[in-house]
Amino acid sequence: MARPVIALDLDGVLADFRAGWQGVDVIGDPIPGAREFAEALYEFADILIYTARCGEDLNGTKATTLRRNAIRDWLEKHSIPYTDIWTGRGKPTARAYVDDCAVECAPHEAGDGPLGRIETFAKAYSRALKLCGLTTIDRREMANVLRDRLAEVEEREMKEQPADTGGEF
Ligand SMILES: [Mg+2]
Repeated sequence: MARPVIALDLDGVLADFRAGWQGVDVIGDPIPGAREFAEALYEFADILIYTARCGEDLNGTKATTLRRNAIRDWLEKHSIPYTDIWTGRGKPTARAYVDDCAVECAPHEAGDGPLGRIETFAKAYSRALKLCGLTTIDRREMANVLRDRLAEVEEREMKEQPADTGGEF
């Protein structure tokens, strides 16, 4: 059976990115624990390094190759296991994506009931707002707005459903 693929971000997950973008050849120091984390993942999955560093150029251009080489050198210097570095366009196929800017949103995992779904969307909304730099007060207010909107949708869906025919008890 093929090993699953995990797409793993570089900046902010494996490499310290608190200083922000410093250039193609400048990759921050490994975050303590990052190597051990990658090693643990690599025991059961292939690791596809998935980073915006390779996202600005078409696959195969000289600039992309230089960026890819800088990333490869950094990974090898710090003994971080990986299978490949994604330089294609768009989202690669992977079983899981590990990214410091990702917002997890899996409403189907919350079940079919409205409460879990509303809570899931509200949390994702709140996290997205935080990543966009909005204040705590704004986040809370916006999350409430979302919650209210979703509650309205839920109420409308309930009204549109065919009436329960009952059944035998
Ligand atoms: Mg990142």
